[in-house]
Amino acid sequence: MREVKVSMSNTYDVIVIGAGVAGLGVAAIVSKEAGKKVLVLDRFPKSGGRLMSYDGYPGKGWRVDIGLHFTELGEKSMCNVVNERVGKKVEWAPFSDTVDIWDGEKFVSVADLVPMTKEDKIAFRDMLQNIAMMTDAEIEAWDNRSLEEWLVENVPQPAIRELFTDLGMIMTTIPNAIDMAAGEVLYIARDNLLNTRQVLQASYPIDGMQGITKGLVEAIKENGGEIRLNCDVQEVLIENKRAIGVRVPAGKHIYQEEYRIFETETIYADRVVCALPIYKLNRIIDLNPETGPLPRWWVKRITDIQHEITGLIGYMIGLSEPVVDPAKLCFFTALKTKHAGYPFQGFAASNFASGTAPEGKQILHTDVVCEHPEASDKFKRDRILNLMWEDVKEMFPGIEEKVEWKLPYYVDGCDGLARQPGLVGNFKPGLQAPGIPNLYFAGDTYQGRGLAMNGAALSGMKCADLILQKMEKE
Ligand SMILES: Cc1cc2nc3c(=O)[nH]c(=O)nc-3n(C[C@H](O)[C@H](O)[C@H](O)COP(=O)(O)OP(=O)(O)OC[C@H]3O[C@@H](n4cnc5c(N)ncnc54)[C@H](O)[C@@H]3O)c2cc1C
Repeated sequence: MREVKVSMSNTYDVIVIGAGVAGLGVAAIVSKEAGKKVLVLDRFPKSGGRLMSYDGYPGKGWRVDIGLHFTELGEKSMCNVVNERVGKKVEWAPFSDTVDIWDGEKFVSVADLVPMTKEDKIAFRDMLQNIAMMTDAEIEAWDNRSLEEWLVENVPQPAIRELFTDLGMIMTTIPNAIDMAAGEVLYIARDNLLNTRQVLQASYPIDGMQGITKGLVEAIKENGGEIRLNCDVQEVLIENKRAIGVRVPAGKHIYQEEYRIFETETIYADRVVCALPIYKLNRIIDLNPETGPLPRWWVKRITDIQHEITGLIGYMIGLSEPVVDPAKLCFFTALKTKHAGYPFQGFAASNFASGTAPEGKQILHTDVVCEHPEASDKFKRDRILNLMWEDVKEMFPGIEEKVEWKLPYYVDGCDGLARQPGLVGNFKPGLQAPGIPNLYFAGDTYQGRGLAMNGAALSGMKCADLILQKMEKE
């Protein structure tokens, strides 16, 4: 890389790489609560990260997010808490009324999927009460053990084990209880039970997913922070065990990305926060333990988690008239669809937030959760999309005639679904780099809890607290 400009006036207290909910949360809190000079950098032309929304796309009156998203716990979520902390408000639709599961022929409510006796139902209620009373320490003790083990030790009734496994699958998108970290499922269930008296409860921001991040952007700007978009950070600069800043592209280039060697400039900072997805970290930090700044054990952990990322493939669908009763606030799921053979999720976003579709029309968000190699391979992806469309047609009869537009999408690297035993809670990578005290991390795969975006929001808040504590001591 050829350095073209080094300017010491280009200096900040904190640089945050990544304008997702985690990075924006760190920046909003630090700029508001410590009054420090903060710069957020993002490679996209828009902030929000995976929670971006597009107004007026793919046509007037429509609003799409990047793929299906819903927020566990809505107004009681960590996404809401981070906004409130910086004085911002997210408008939420009401909570979902039901989660319906596809039984192969029709959608049924989760409770009806597994036949239960009267005794089973009483035992299930008792089990939920026990979960609601679990302490943090009791839950953490299950972070490195599977849900299957927890069920074997705590739940004698096969029907309840099956039902709770189905619920765990909806939370983690992992099909088998032996692969789910019990601590994660129990934490999510307890949080939901305490806040909403249901095992899993979700909502959707009235403004679409951008509703979660737009207040954070405002808070950063109101408190003197800066956000620089279209800025693909090339490297975190580390010297003598300290992060000194970042190297970013200087100016515009006519070359394709594949062919160009960047001319760069350096922006200096007292602290650097990496709030980009964990699977992109190797693009800005040398993760080779022989040559890079981080210890071998830590790099191994990060690379192990990088392999846990999943893929999502789906359609955002604009309908000339509803296929789902507009009054129904429901999330649709399938443990495994008939044609594509993957877990399915869907919901009519316009039922929750009418601004997402023109009047009288409906927007349906759908996806299947697959492996990363399937989502990233164009040919595999196309095959799955075609099969999934067969599933969608069976699940929502008459949909084909009502399609106004159908937007296929894929994501290879959803939410770092590292939710297996030994990869959750305190087993997640910490928020500070070992041996580099002023280099931090935040995001859905770092320490935090809750379903993906809530985990990201919580890790952003925890990271900000760490930084504030350090600043106070100085
Ligand atoms: C299609 C889809 C569906 C999902 N559904 C749900 C759901 O229903 N519920 C749920 O809770 N979660 C869901 N998630 C996950 C959720 O969106 C994420 O967990 C959360 O948004 C992650 O936030 P983050 O801040 O950690 O990362 P991100 O939002 O990914 O933010 C990271 C930012 O870093 C930027 N960046 C990357 N590299 C660089 C670089 N070199 N230089 C500068 N910037 C860089 C990116 O552009 C991005 O803006 C879904 C994700 C996807 C993609």
